[in-house]
Amino acid sequence: MIEMIDVKKTYSNGVSAINGLNVKIKPGEFVYVVGQSGAGKSTFIKLMYREEKPTSGSILVNGLNLTKLRNSKVPLFRRNIGMVFQDFKLLQNYSVYENVAFAMEVIEKDKESIKTRVMEVLDLVGIKHKARMLPSELSGGEQQRVAIARSIVNEPKVVIADEPTGNLDPETSWEIMNIFETINNSGTTVIMATHNRDIVNNMKHRVIAIEGGKIVRDEQQGDYGYEI
Ligand code: ADP
Repeated sequence: MIEMIDVKKTYSNGVSAINGLNVKIKPGEFVYVVGQSGAGKSTFIKLMYREEKPTSGSILVNGLNLTKLRNSKVPLFRRNIGMVFQDFKLLQNYSVYENVAFAMEVIEKDKESIKTRVMEVLDLVGIKHKARMLPSELSGGEQQRVAIARSIVNEPKVVIADEPTGNLDPETSWEIMNIFETINNSGTTVIMATHNRDIVNNMKHRVIAIEGGKIVRDEQQGDYGYEI
């Protein structure tokens, strides 16, 4: 599903964020990416959805070689990837419903299927009753539910989340994590960068620890680790 071979990423300011990284992630896996601030977690994740290009090495996602993928093909490639961020990234002037529907409109689905599917995913994440509200009328946890609904509405094979509980209180974080768990149980691969030690240690999955742009630990059913 995802494979990185000898990947290096040096930003234009000379900072080497990823320094020779090899990894394979199979379909259906749930993977936590942990490490200190500045370790390279975000860059690692951005390389997976072609927000950044590697300086060298190759990256394969859903059978596509991202190093060879033309910029014009990136939107098509991203249809099979759901993305969730710490700061939700919702469209503030659009309702909950419209935020999620928009992801289906851009791929030209018809109005009826959009309506059915959007209500289905809003129900799945527990926010159906607030479909007409604006993001500003929702709590952080509720906004993240909307962002998750948007990420899965087109049934991607993989959902990539960068610190999805970073702005949320512990109880809300657990609720959000349970939604990711449900998504993963339906067969979707989930890759999540997180600083949440409690969640990583209690909701057990594969743990990839990054330090200095390299994988320093890769364990099935791993722990957050004491050193970070
Ligand atoms: P993490 O997510 O683990 O905090 P990042 O991938 O954000 O780590 O950052 C890794 C390193 O790359 C850091 O030294 C950071 O300052 C640098 N970096 C990240 N993004 C950029 C960028 N767009 N331009 C230059 N340097 C960057």
